Amino acid sequence: MLIDYHTHHERCGHAIGNLREYVEYAIKLGLDQIGLSDHMPIIHLTKDKILPGVAMELYQLEEYVTEVLDLKKEYQKDIEIKLGLEADYIRGYEEKIEKLLSPYPFDYILGSIHFLGEWDLSDSRQMEGWKQRSIDEIFTDYYLSVQNAAKSGLYDIIGHFDIVKKYGHRPQSDINPLIETTLNVIRNANMAMEINVSGLYKISKEIFPAPGIVEKAISLGIPFTLGSDAHKPEHIHRGIEEGRMLLKKLGVSKLATFNQRNRIMVNL
Ligand SMILES: [Zn+2]
Ligand SMILES: [Zn+2]
Repeated sequence: MLIDYHTHHERCGHAIGNLREYVEYAIKLGLDQIGLSDHMPIIHLTKDKILPGVAMELYQLEEYVTEVLDLKKEYQKDIEIKLGLEADYIRGYEEKIEKLLSPYPFDYILGSIHFLGEWDLSDSRQMEGWKQRSIDEIFTDYYLSVQNAAKSGLYDIIGHFDIVKKYGHRPQSDINPLIETTLNVIRNANMAMEINVSGLYKISKEIFPAPGIVEKAISLGIPFTLGSDAHKPEHIHRGIEEGRMLLKKLGVSKLATFNQRNRIMVNL
């Protein structure tokens, strides 16, 4: 089955194209399912601290959901559209996030860590944050956040598991035990992870998560979904074949898909 469960669109302010363009491009590619999963509005920063072009405004969430549901109906004969969201995990904001997500009939929620407190470690405009603490400290804080995200029960899929490597930073100490603990927490939370192939096109030039981590996750029985993290329609499904091949090589035959927050395993 051909799927892409991680896509954005113009509402976030740093992606190009409207939802219909993404859907039509996915149909053109012959995908069976397209997951629309734009960034959740920022809820933990005051207005003056939100940089431009990070995420949709709070009031846009409802119109986003309505538009996706309308497209879902309109294109139901051509493709299965999934209502998703890439929702940040922010320590201490669990209840607020729950409240934000609960009114809507999402098919799945990708849980991603971009923020450690007020700092967005994935934002190229905020590189000074890497100098304020040791790399080891940042990596530890990041993976503890992933663990908290999994324990929160707010999400179905952990997004780009090791995005903390995005700009090529590497910790000095051995973080394998930390990664193993984190994978165990994800497994115990009965969550899926994504192969996010956008890492191939970043400085890190490597899939999120690294193939070695994918292998460990598979040995624990964690299911995977696939995502391009497209920020323009032409990037839908870009690199996903590489992700599929990796899963196949590691003996995986099923892929996690979602319907109304229920996991459905399909043939890879
Ligand atoms: Zn984005
Ligand atoms: Zn992300």
